[in-house]
Amino acid sequence: MEAVKNIVILGAGESGVGAALLAQHKGFNVFVSDGGVLKERYRKDLNAAGIEFEEGKHTVKQILEADLIIKSPGIADKVDIVKKAREKGVEIIDEIEFASRYTKAKTIAITGTNGKTTTTLLTYHLLKEAGYNVGLAGNVGHSFARQVIKDNFDIYVLEVSSFQIDGMNTFKPDVAILLNITPDHLDRYDYSFQKYVNSKFRIIEKMTHEECFIYFADKGPIEEELARRNVEASIFAISLVENVKNGAFLDEDHLVFNIESKKKSHKIPVNQVSLIGKHNMVNSMAAVLTTLTMEAPMEKVVKALKTFKNAPHRLEKVATIDDVLFINDSKATNVDSVYYALEGIEAPIVWIAGGLDKGNDYDRIEALVKDKVKALICLGKDNTKLTDYFTGKVASIRQTQSVNDAARWGADLSAPGDVVLLSPACASFDLFRNYEDRGEQFKDAVVQLKNHVGRGQ
Ligand code: ADP
Repeated sequence: MEAVKNIVILGAGESGVGAALLAQHKGFNVFVSDGGVLKERYRKDLNAAGIEFEEGKHTVKQILEADLIIKSPGIADKVDIVKKAREKGVEIIDEIEFASRYTKAKTIAITGTNGKTTTTLLTYHLLKEAGYNVGLAGNVGHSFARQVIKDNFDIYVLEVSSFQIDGMNTFKPDVAILLNITPDHLDRYDYSFQKYVNSKFRIIEKMTHEECFIYFADKGPIEEELARRNVEASIFAISLVENVKNGAFLDEDHLVFNIESKKKSHKIPVNQVSLIGKHNMVNSMAAVLTTLTMEAPMEKVVKALKTFKNAPHRLEKVATIDDVLFINDSKATNVDSVYYALEGIEAPIVWIAGGLDKGNDYDRIEALVKDKVKALICLGKDNTKLTDYFTGKVASIRQTQSVNDAARWGADLSAPGDVVLLSPACASFDLFRNYEDRGEQFKDAVVQLKNHVGRGQ
């Protein structure tokens, strides 16, 4: 690092601009290059700090003068300017790696194909409520680099994607959580699942026995990979199906936590957890285990588990109308997510699904749908695939392009005690701007319905 004078930042999103501000703060010559158009707020940030930048192009000569490049996780390795820099031997790192070099605070890094945001927010909430001076960074909220400029936290909880891990060389979190690995983003990994797995495992490469690695043991390649690797971190497993000696597991209606080295054991009733669904029990166990490795007071953690409110559109409880609970799970844009939603709900379900199909295979949820879904409302421009698949398997199927219809029919088709679930299994772009827009419109429709019937609870 001593020899580094010129830092070039590729990509001026939240992480790039955060890195630029931190680099400037630390006295480097900084140049920011973005091939696209900057958001106005980032242009303002850079101008206010007097940082030189370009947009709409990459000036090769100036970029290659860098001693160090900090690359946005969104820029793939195969992009020309990245290739050129690598050929020249310039070190290329990620913003989280860069920021980690300038803080002595503890870090908790949370990764996995699914569940990162939920687990990051929950871990942050639990630690905060337990009285720690904790910051939130990474893919949620401000970038880590931006936080490290002031650096006034003792602990940072970081949501970390595999693209970010790819740009880490020395980063060593105090706690790493790996929630799951399923095939995703393979275009960035030469269509090799193993390469994607290797990327995720880099997060624990530098860890020693002092640091903790928490992982979900039931599914996917993690357990097998661990057996093949020489991992030095202290390892904690999480399971929904097996008793775990060192880690956490689901034991009917309790979450059980065992920390072998401290000879400590705790039990938390599942009804003390605000999140719903088995996948969220995994996320909750990971977050609680983290707090236990930090010796957080258990009564405060348990209290905070109950008050946690997740980011919107993820199995979000919207309202109860005539004893029917309406749930917004608009973020569920694939079949896997719907699986977890259906699995986690114990009541009969009126299921609202549909949108842009990304090659869905509904076989995975067929049994669950047959068992739990009493009516299907298709909310999409083209519902052929859904209706073809589920005709004869669900008692009642309706179709609409109106979210108001969907909410109203949800109320019509349900009985007290049922759940109306928007969990689309599809992308939203046929009728909505994005999944957030779809979720917001659904929530509005439900609230209107509640006000209209005037009998909500
Ligand atoms: P990410 O930040 O990794 O995209 P989120 O916390 O935003 O994850 O959750 C996105 C979706 O992933 C949720 O709506 C849910 O369907 C699914 N999900 C959440 N946690 C898990 C988990 N532990 N395992 C599998 N799927 C999960």
